[in-house]
Amino acid sequence: MEILGDFHVHSTYSDGLLTITQLVDFYGKLGFKALAITDHLCEEKTLLGRAAKFLNRTLRAENFSVYLNEIYREKKRALQQYGMCLIPGVEITKNSFSHRNSSHIVILGIDAYIDPDQSIEEICRRARIQNALSVAAHPVSTQKIEAQTRFLWDNRERLQPILDVWEVASGDIIFKEVLESGLSIIANSDLHHPRQMSSWKTKVYGPMSEKHILDEIKHQNLEIFFYEYNFGQEFLENVHLQKRSYVEGSVFQH
Ligand code: ZN
Ligand code: ZN
Repeated sequence: MEILGDFHVHSTYSDGLLTITQLVDFYGKLGFKALAITDHLCEEKTLLGRAAKFLNRTLRAENFSVYLNEIYREKKRALQQYGMCLIPGVEITKNSFSHRNSSHIVILGIDAYIDPDQSIEEICRRARIQNALSVAAHPVSTQKIEAQTRFLWDNRERLQPILDVWEVASGDIIFKEVLESGLSIIANSDLHHPRQMSSWKTKVYGPMSEKHILDEIKHQNLEIFFYEYNFGQEFLENVHLQKRSYVEGSVFQH
């Protein structure tokens, strides 16, 4: 079967607008068959990581099992209600004041907490022990006014063996350097708000199981394509925007 997926999406556990339940309904009703929830897990020892914790925009060691359990509960419902595979993920977020020292690593298929203050090598090693995939998130310029994350790309020769795939597109931007590099790729929305649904996405084929989907991504049996969504006012009325107060465009860590 054709499995239309989005493998980098944020919920209210970090800086996304929608709850995990709302995300499942949003994607499920649109016919998606795979969805990974990948909330920020920021470093705890750095100044920017501590700020994210203070602002309640990151997962923490203390609530990680609550997060995973909610995903597991929703995984059952997503399958029953929409025939959709919900994948537990996380975005290890290493932010620095220098773009060249910042990196975000999406882990797909995580089943236990990984300490974000460890080295990138150790984080990817722990992901592999869990049979999870390590994804280099938005590794080159996103052409937006936001903090950039260049570390993985600048060190790609050294890190390429331990990272499974590299985002070749994030949202509506395709990364030409990654496309031409010959590295393994994936395309994701990095969705924080429903209006970001029109974006590059990834499609795989075959039986709908988490293991199969992650294997297909790892072995590059996939297609990337641009998914067009007409963001309608009726959807806005159905989500609880008042849950948090948001300032347009300035609150997301990507
Ligand atoms: Zn990011
Ligand atoms: Zn993100």
